[in-house]
Amino acid sequence: MNAALLLVISGPSGVGKGTICRELRKLDPTICLSVSVTTRPPREGETEGNDYCFVSETYFRELIARGELLEWAQVYDYYYGTPKEAVNKALSSGSDVLLEIDVQGGLKVRENRPESVLLFILPPTLEELAVRLRRRGTDTSKSIDTRLRWAASELPYYKRYDYVIVNDTLAEAIAKISAIRIAEKCRPQYRQLAWPIT
Ligand code: ADP
Ligand code: 5GP
Repeated sequence: MNAALLLVISGPSGVGKGTICRELRKLDPTICLSVSVTTRPPREGETEGNDYCFVSETYFRELIARGELLEWAQVYDYYYGTPKEAVNKALSSGSDVLLEIDVQGGLKVRENRPESVLLFILPPTLEELAVRLRRRGTDTSKSIDTRLRWAASELPYYKRYDYVIVNDTLAEAIAKISAIRIAEKCRPQYRQLAWPIT
């Protein structure tokens, strides 16, 4: 069995991270999507344990104090974090793990797990990003404005990621990420040979 990849997917809200992760898992159901903990209240249609584990700020602070988060960050007005144990379990069972997290979290993962692969998703244009946020229909216009302002400060981080994917046509973005997974697994450190070469 070849070692599993820890893949970080970041990019501004509305760029298509969630859609990309769902498509990748449709193509390969063995990929594991990490479920984050957050202090944000659930949006309509979101369910506990599937979209997020929704927790209080007090409980979130306990998770940090107990060292149970691989990374955490404040995004907008809320806290978000990646539970360490679930990620470790999935990786050691050989499944690639997707972390759909913000840029602060992505850079912390790189610090803690230098072998992780960081992918930044860019919109084709800023206008299209605004269109997607509005079309999604899950945020108020105030929240959309906040997300667009936040996007302006997140975008320059693309240079610190390993790969940049423009999510113009979804199928093309998926093809590129699938190719990156294949290429990353051809690196010598990921390849366990059937027979030893000394
Ligand atoms: P994020 O998870 O990054 O916030 P979403 O996956 O929720 O973004 O996507 C935001 C909106 O954009 C959704 O309505 C989704 O259907 C749409 N979308 C995603 N990718 C594309 C694409 N390549 N072209 C057009 N619309 C897209
Ligand atoms: P949303 O509220 O739209 O679900 O997510 C807001 C932002 O928080 C997105 O950029 C998303 O990628 C990020 N996010 C979600 N989970 C985590 C996490 O566990 N850690 C970090 N650092 N960011 C996260």
